[in-house]
Amino acid sequence: MKAARLEDGVLEIQDLPTPTPGHEEALIRISSTGICHSDLHIARGDWVGVPRTGVIGHEAIGIVEALGPGAERYAAIGDRVILGLGGSGGGYWCGACEYCLRGEPRHCSQTKGIIGTFAEQFCVWAKSLVKLPDSVGDEEAPLACGGLTAYGAVKKLLKHHIQPGRAVAIVGAAGGLGHYAIQIANAFGYKVVGVDIGADRLEFVKSMGAHLAVEAEDAAEIVEREFGGVDASIVFSARMAGFDLGLKLLRRGGLFVAVGLPATSEGNLELNPFEFFLKDPTLIYSAVGNVQDMRELVEMAASGQVKSHIGRVGALSELGAIFDELEAGKYVGRAVINDLGS
Ligand SMILES: [Zn+2]
Ligand SMILES: [Zn+2]
Repeated sequence: MKAARLEDGVLEIQDLPTPTPGHEEALIRISSTGICHSDLHIARGDWVGVPRTGVIGHEAIGIVEALGPGAERYAAIGDRVILGLGGSGGGYWCGACEYCLRGEPRHCSQTKGIIGTFAEQFCVWAKSLVKLPDSVGDEEAPLACGGLTAYGAVKKLLKHHIQPGRAVAIVGAAGGLGHYAIQIANAFGYKVVGVDIGADRLEFVKSMGAHLAVEAEDAAEIVEREFGGVDASIVFSARMAGFDLGLKLLRRGGLFVAVGLPATSEGNLELNPFEFFLKDPTLIYSAVGNVQDMRELVEMAASGQVKSHIGRVGALSELGAIFDELEAGKYVGRAVINDLGS
């Protein structure tokens, strides 16, 4: 089977043996796979300590082609499924440790990631699969990480008692995750302030349903004037400037939800203790979601409340070119590979 691999950061399309599904695993024939900013970060070596050799790709839709022992309890051959990062860390969680039992499988010490979906076939723990209705097309593969991550972040607003009707800033609103967050926060009843850079991107933010679409450099002034600060900022930006802005936009006692993962070279999030005292924000990180979140998101997509905006479609052989375009901000929304065989 064809698969994309990084060899010390250099992208290669290789012929690899078809994997064999192990205990409770399913072999999936990939129909479509989305390109996440994380794939680019790994390829570029942005995160110190993350290896730049190995298979990549972690969001996909496909068909169950074979089952390992025990997997028949969770999936059937022929099922059309989304390979959501439903265990937060990915494809496996133990279900019995203190983290799993309190609904945070991302922290499970036995978690195993989903990685390697830029391939014709892929093995995954069958319990983490979510079946798709026909109304959710193959182009929705980016729901698996991009959509789920946005959903997980917006859902945390409810957990932190941010009431519908309140103003919420989405920093990096035109991107692969931000465009989902606008739709999801709208569906939850929030007043969405979408922040991004450039007229085209802001027009896109508006078209996704944002109450306000504002340039990053004007955001602080507009948000202060319109709302006296937002109740929550969700920061999808991969730049530290986006993190700083997210904090700045908050009203007193606001909630800061970090989602983006800037390169190590971007430095640290800084907060002056006196500002901390004055503003008294709650700071949290939100990574992907759990398998129940994935099921809920699939329902939202099926009912038309959430739709992936696919700004680029290509074949596996175009992956390197798509990375360059993503880096240069040449398309809005998400890119999808729908031809894994060439
Ligand atoms: Zn991702
Ligand atoms: Zn666990």
